[in-house]
Amino acid sequence: MLRIDGLTKRYKTGDQALKNVSFEISGGQVVGLIGPSGAGKSTLIRCVNKLVEPTSGSISLNNREISSASGGELRRIRRRIGMIFQEYALVERLTVMENVLSGRLGYVPFWRSYLRRFPQADVDKAFMLLERVGLSTHADKRADALSGGQRQRVGIARALEQDPELLLVDEPTASLDPKTSRQIMRLILEICRERSLPAVINIHDVELARMFVDRIIGLRAGEIVFDAAPAKLDNAA
Ligand code: ADP
Ligand code: ADP
Repeated sequence: MLRIDGLTKRYKTGDQALKNVSFEISGGQVVGLIGPSGAGKSTLIRCVNKLVEPTSGSISLNNREISSASGGELRRIRRRIGMIFQEYALVERLTVMENVLSGRLGYVPFWRSYLRRFPQADVDKAFMLLERVGLSTHADKRADALSGGQRQRVGIARALEQDPELLLVDEPTASLDPKTSRQIMRLILEICRERSLPAVINIHDVELARMFVDRIIGLRAGEIVFDAAPAKLDNAA
């Protein structure tokens, strides 16, 4: 479970990006984060993966405090947060399998020979994940030979390779056509259900959010202005 309590972020520039934001997400629940540009969505996601230091408030994942963690403890927590990106962030000249294995390290290695020394158990798991996302026949292809939808499937498998306890997803379909976008959103939703994983998806497309998330949190000027099932969105607007 992800728990955010009284989260506030004021940047050095004086921008108040988050104001006393609190919510909880349980396992298997997929939350879509919506709101106009500048509302604080990226800042919220960056606070959770600790790219940004909150001004105050607490964030915990399965009862371990993220906001105060440092050193080895922070690395352990970060390894349990699976990130999925808008532009996939694959290493183009590595194979699909190598890209998935790089999730094991929690960062993308540029040192290819390193990936050849992975334990067989990790390779087997990567293969199973590629099967789950429908890419087992593409394991040896280079990432740059794939379509956008296939790349995002690799991005999802890579996030799962690290056995995440939380998925943070940043505009996963921004570079995809509408049909592929729906397939990717459905896949993310199904996987969160299967693994009882909580997910936060920064999602630009409100219609997609309506179709594929369990709950929508609307941010505006750093505050939560909506937090309910997608069906309630019409009444609020
Ligand atoms: P969103 O992702 O919803 O577009 P952001 O979290 O990027 O919103 O931005 C929220 C507010 O914080 C905006 O006013 C933005 O200008 C400001 N902001 C974001 N990142 C920084 C930064 N690195 N330094 C200073 N201000 C920032
Ligand atoms: P996004 O597509 O997430 O809305 P932006 O264009 O808002 O991205 O921001 C791009 C980068 O600039 C981010 O790293 C963000 O943190 C930073 N940024 C955004 N607003 C500001 C700001 N007011 N001052 C400094 N950096 C900012």
